[in-house]
Amino acid sequence: MLDLDAPLSSLVPRAGDGTSKNANPSKWLSDLGLETGRDLLWHLPRKYQDRGDLTPIRELVVGEDVSIVAQVQDVGKPQPLQRKTGWRTVVTLSDGRDRITATFFMATQHQFGPLLGKYPVGSLVLATGRAGKFRETWQLDKPVFEPLEEGDDAGARAEAPVPLYPATRSCPNFVVRASVATLLDALAAAGPAAGVEEFLPDDVAAAEGLLPPLAALEAVHRPRDRAHLARGQDRLRFEEAFVLQTALALRRASTATQTAVARVPSPDGIAAAFDERLPFPLTGAQRRVGEEIAAELARPHPMQRLLQGDVGSGKTLVALRAMLTVVDGGGQAALLAPTEVLAAQHLRSITGALGDLAAGGFLGGDPRGTRVVLLTGSMGAAARRESLLAAASGEAGIVVGTHALLQEGVQFADLGLVVVDEQHRFGVEQRDVLRRKGTETGRGVPHLLAMTATPIPRTVAMTLFGDLETSVLDELPPGRADVQTVVVPQDKPAWIDRTWQRIAEEAALGRQAYVVCARIDADDDDLADGAEEPDDEEAQPPAKAKGKGKGKGGTAGGRPAPRPPAAVSQVVEVVRAHPATAALRTEVLHGRLVPAEKEDVMGRFAAGELDVVVATTVVEVGVDVPNASVMVVVDADRFGISQLHQLRGRIGRGGLPGTCLLLSDTSPDSRAGRRLKALARTRDGFELARLDLAERREGDVLGAAQSGERSSLQLLGVLQHADVIERARSRARTLVEVDPDLARHPGLAAAVASRVTGDTAAFLGRT
Ligand code: ADP
Ligand code: MG
Repeated sequence: MLDLDAPLSSLVPRAGDGTSKNANPSKWLSDLGLETGRDLLWHLPRKYQDRGDLTPIRELVVGEDVSIVAQVQDVGKPQPLQRKTGWRTVVTLSDGRDRITATFFMATQHQFGPLLGKYPVGSLVLATGRAGKFRETWQLDKPVFEPLEEGDDAGARAEAPVPLYPATRSCPNFVVRASVATLLDALAAAGPAAGVEEFLPDDVAAAEGLLPPLAALEAVHRPRDRAHLARGQDRLRFEEAFVLQTALALRRASTATQTAVARVPSPDGIAAAFDERLPFPLTGAQRRVGEEIAAELARPHPMQRLLQGDVGSGKTLVALRAMLTVVDGGGQAALLAPTEVLAAQHLRSITGALGDLAAGGFLGGDPRGTRVVLLTGSMGAAARRESLLAAASGEAGIVVGTHALLQEGVQFADLGLVVVDEQHRFGVEQRDVLRRKGTETGRGVPHLLAMTATPIPRTVAMTLFGDLETSVLDELPPGRADVQTVVVPQDKPAWIDRTWQRIAEEAALGRQAYVVCARIDADDDDLADGAEEPDDEEAQPPAKAKGKGKGKGGTAGGRPAPRPPAAVSQVVEVVRAHPATAALRTEVLHGRLVPAEKEDVMGRFAAGELDVVVATTVVEVGVDVPNASVMVVVDADRFGISQLHQLRGRIGRGGLPGTCLLLSDTSPDSRAGRRLKALARTRDGFELARLDLAERREGDVLGAAQSGERSSLQLLGVLQHADVIERARSRARTLVEVDPDLARHPGLAAAVASRVTGDTAAFLGRT
């Protein structure tokens, strides 16, 4: 039996025919990160090229993709390239009547060994490539050769798509193809090998009509034709979805068996007291979701819930009511926020909403009350110690904080609920760290409420948060004023003047304004707090798209580099100098201020002591100043749709009509221009999220692109294969219901264990 975990040097000793002693394919494959047979087998083609019609040379048309059947007439001696960047050799083919040349490029001279060894003069080949002509000689560009035997059906062979692997210069595609072929042939000869036997339950494989694993791998590496390829991909894609969904179903089933403390509000407790003094009625959605949450908190198993709601839908209030229910039940709640600004604001708005109910333990406080404390990384030692003590003693019913909450020294007396705000900014492992702090006290697993303002399509949610149940706040509180959104041409001085005048007019009415920029300082290389590189086709030449991240300046691809976006430090000077706004009280807010300064600026803005803040996207998430009525975004084309939607959500909150001015000098017909138009057209967060997702690449959806880590999902697309994910999930859940520890499916258990290491986020390449 063949051992797929053996090193490639023993499995594919010679790719093709290693006529050259130095031709060692395993060394080149190792450059691709492929060390074992398993690695190679699962190194799937990136795409496929159709061979094009089988054509006699004299009927070729320049620029067409073609295949020809021809005989090798001459093999040139490898020559170094002019600047020693590699080697080339020219092979001349003839179809008996006309001739064509094919030039191969390699990084080293040795790499020609296995190629040329396979195609000696006189041998028959199926050659695929693009037809070209130099002077009077036909040429085959990007040539791919396949050996042909007498009697092979070349016509049928030309139907087979050519797999193109994610190869590098140091390991050309044909080396991968030849090595995979060697391995597949060895597997076919050796009989079933460990690791490629069927591990899907028989009934599932049968119901889905799937090829067995080895046949599927054969089909994706050496497809006979497009239909064969599709069957192979279907199998592997379903397998990816099924393994992942099984892992999620197991995770869900295991939390269902975990115990938690049931938390029930008491009729004369803090939750009831809070509801009584709410200054407004709950929206229908808040009431409905509140009931869902209360029902789950009352069960002796941990709640696992994702709360989705558009900007301004009132998620914080829903979370606060859940936290108070837990406090009523004798426990504590922790609220985890992604930034210090947001944590501080949550503290302010929670203590504000609670009034004297937040003065528990203090003289004059309501006897039903509790204490709310803040814990962030930037707090002074004394304040920090006090918060830690309040959390550990149980005196604080609600602890609001940032990542600082996750640190080791942080302890709770009885943590009953973890609320994660802006869930997508945290990984699964972070929310688990916090939940373990509750488990340490031996009172079971805390309930979990994760919140997100970024609407997530159903199948993405199933994949990323498949272990969570979802609630949606699909109704905005009444009195939400209109926000008018206008795209302002940034290169027209008269329009810019008008922008500053708008701010002044609102300030004269006692309202306030945000001005958001993509950078902090003019000489910064980095973009500020989450602004995005321009991703316009016209602004971003391909060379840069592949480049090393945040390239700046210079020219690439012959086009002028995009102008660097205006910085906070520049724009604040403009605002302070402009006749319309010079008299206004203006401050800056960005991630590089020390926390106390940030706190101070946000506090003064919230208190109405400032008219304008010029900020980075630190104001993007959750900031709530109802009196702010204008949002100006400078270089709006540098931001993504969701980000702009979040920014705009900061205004129109206090029943005051809002104005959102998106400054941009991008052409209205560019991709960014269309994005801005869509924002001006609608305020429906779900519609905008769909647009946003459709625009982004798959990797970005899973966050893999940011982390640079390779996702284990090779074929499955969370957006385009929604149907596969749905089917896999329902089959996986059914299976886990009857076989909760996979005792009857050891092969599947092994696949889950080996592929879904640690947590699913890592599996998806998100961490
Ligand atoms: P989100 O976090 O979902 O973006 P918030 O929780 O910040 O939204 O709520 C936005 C604003 O709406 C807050 O000022 C909040 O006090 C207010 N609000 C919440 N629920 C209601 C309601 N039912 N009626 C009126 N205003 C509400
Ligand atoms: Mg919020």
